[in-house]
Amino acid sequence: MIKNDKLLFQIFGSLKPKPKMNGLEWAKKYGYLSAENSAITGRFKPYKYQEALLLSGTDEDVAEIWHPKSARVGYTKILNMLVGYHIAESPCPQLMFNPNDKKANEWSKKELKPLLRDMPIVGEKIVRSRQDDTVNFKVYPGGVFESRGGNAAANYAAATAKRVNLDEVDRFPDDVDGEGSPIELAIKRTATFWDSQAIFGSTPTITGISKIEEGFKKTDMCYFYVPCPHCGQFQIINFNNIIWDKEFRQGVLTHLFQTAYLKCIHCEEKILHKSKKNITSQGEWRQTQKFFCCDEWQDPKENNNWDKITDEKYIAESLCKICNKTAEYNRNGRKKRGFHIWAGYSLSPDADWSNIAEVFVEAKDATSRNKMKVFKNVWLGESYEDKTIKLDGDDLYNQREDYTLVSNDAVVLLMTVDTQDTWLAYEIKEWKVGEISRGLVYGNIIGDPMNKSVWEELKKISEQDFQTEDGRIVKVFKIFIDLAGHKTDHVKNFVRGNQDRFVMLKGSSNEPKDNDARPMATLTMPKKGDLPIMWVATTKAKDTIYERLTLKKGDYGYMYYNMNFDLEWFAQLTAEKVVFKLNAKGYMERTYIKRRNRNEAIDLEAYQLAAVRLLQDMELIDLAIPDVE
Ligand SMILES: [Zn+2]
Ligand SMILES: [Zn+2]
Repeated sequence: MIKNDKLLFQIFGSLKPKPKMNGLEWAKKYGYLSAENSAITGRFKPYKYQEALLLSGTDEDVAEIWHPKSARVGYTKILNMLVGYHIAESPCPQLMFNPNDKKANEWSKKELKPLLRDMPIVGEKIVRSRQDDTVNFKVYPGGVFESRGGNAAANYAAATAKRVNLDEVDRFPDDVDGEGSPIELAIKRTATFWDSQAIFGSTPTITGISKIEEGFKKTDMCYFYVPCPHCGQFQIINFNNIIWDKEFRQGVLTHLFQTAYLKCIHCEEKILHKSKKNITSQGEWRQTQKFFCCDEWQDPKENNNWDKITDEKYIAESLCKICNKTAEYNRNGRKKRGFHIWAGYSLSPDADWSNIAEVFVEAKDATSRNKMKVFKNVWLGESYEDKTIKLDGDDLYNQREDYTLVSNDAVVLLMTVDTQDTWLAYEIKEWKVGEISRGLVYGNIIGDPMNKSVWEELKKISEQDFQTEDGRIVKVFKIFIDLAGHKTDHVKNFVRGNQDRFVMLKGSSNEPKDNDARPMATLTMPKKGDLPIMWVATTKAKDTIYERLTLKKGDYGYMYYNMNFDLEWFAQLTAEKVVFKLNAKGYMERTYIKRRNRNEAIDLEAYQLAAVRLLQDMELIDLAIPDVE
């Protein structure tokens, strides 16, 4: 339902007096933390790093605010204060977007409702008698407030507002119903106001596709600098500079998280966690966006030349190292302001540096890559770089090695087969301890799998001899063959007659959950008279393979290839790319899509990995890394 109170707020809007207070003064005077959304209830006392957000949220010169952030930094509170301010102190029409309708409803109930109840200065402005007064729609003298889901184009249409807020913008669709990016759609809603403002906040997701990071890069990119208690020099609290002691205790690497401290980049002294409150209360926001002045590009972080903070200037502006003038982006026009903040600054008890270090080590040691993504996004407020996106087939081709013999320490030789409509693709490789694998041959058997000759050739190839470096003859142990769509019956018939060595397989591409403990492969035992099938968790297997393709020679899991593997193989191996899609529940989900038609190589490798896992699970082979003294 689209409301039209345009006339109402145009009249009030034009009569409106100038606000007496800015956002910070107002929040300090009236701000209240409600039980629904705060661990501590009562008067709102902003942290130092929150002050600039409140000031820029009510600064006419600021057109856009981009706020990449972690959890635990109190962003929602800031947003609430700004919503309240623009109802009570400087009323104007406002739109609040969350990723979907459900989140929009939740936000209204959890944030807006308590705000109106616990801050009477705001609540009493709402015209309650109106029939259209709902959880998501409020009318007050001078404006209306609407809370909407950001995933439907209809929710952007026909609404006008001076202020738009998009929370968790990285969880919005890239394109809303084919009508464009949610960022553009939202900003369009403000086009009739010269003093409009759009605020975008989010924990970032994936490098390269994160909307909040992309937007932040187009701002003045402010970071919060804090002074060292020893040398007095300012720096960003950077997770890379948080250090803690480690000790070997009877051969066990033990992290002493409670020793975590920040190492000053200037004097190298220890800045202890107990000084966090003190140093953050003396911090200031400094611009780090590069700029061009006096014929050269300048990096504020290298210049180390910022203007002083004053009553008028709540941001330390970057200055030219030659002429000392403020950076070009501060001179004319309305500003795009960016603020990056993360849990390392937070005074919330679970954001102690020791705790963050512990979460990091857990994520680093976890088998699921999702944990590191969560750590980067939710704790550091940074995007996660998915290396698989950058894989290059030519680079891998150039890393091939010249070998033909099987290693002396090979544990097993496996063959995988991918069934296509008019050919079979296969790969044979050896597996060693630590799941190091070496490709021996790959090839295609051309012909419709309906033809007997195709199967005869497959059998012949699977039975060939391989020679080890020390002269022994070895053979493929098991062959795993894809039970592909069209040719299922032919595959079954062949495997039935050769089940001592051949195993059928099927891929299941369901996305594993964050802490999915399901194995990469499972064997379903057949009903009477039927054959066993190995089920492959394809996404999980491909994740591991793409990660392994970024390893260095000698690492456990490294995949070697010899000269039999040609450019076509590597093109196929990197033929799929990860994309992130929102699933029905509004969560980001990874999935692989094909970039080219032929991609058997990545499937063959996924089957190899699944097979070697299955054989280990069944204790038929042992590739475990021996304990090192
Ligand atoms: Zn220092
Ligand atoms: Zn200059």
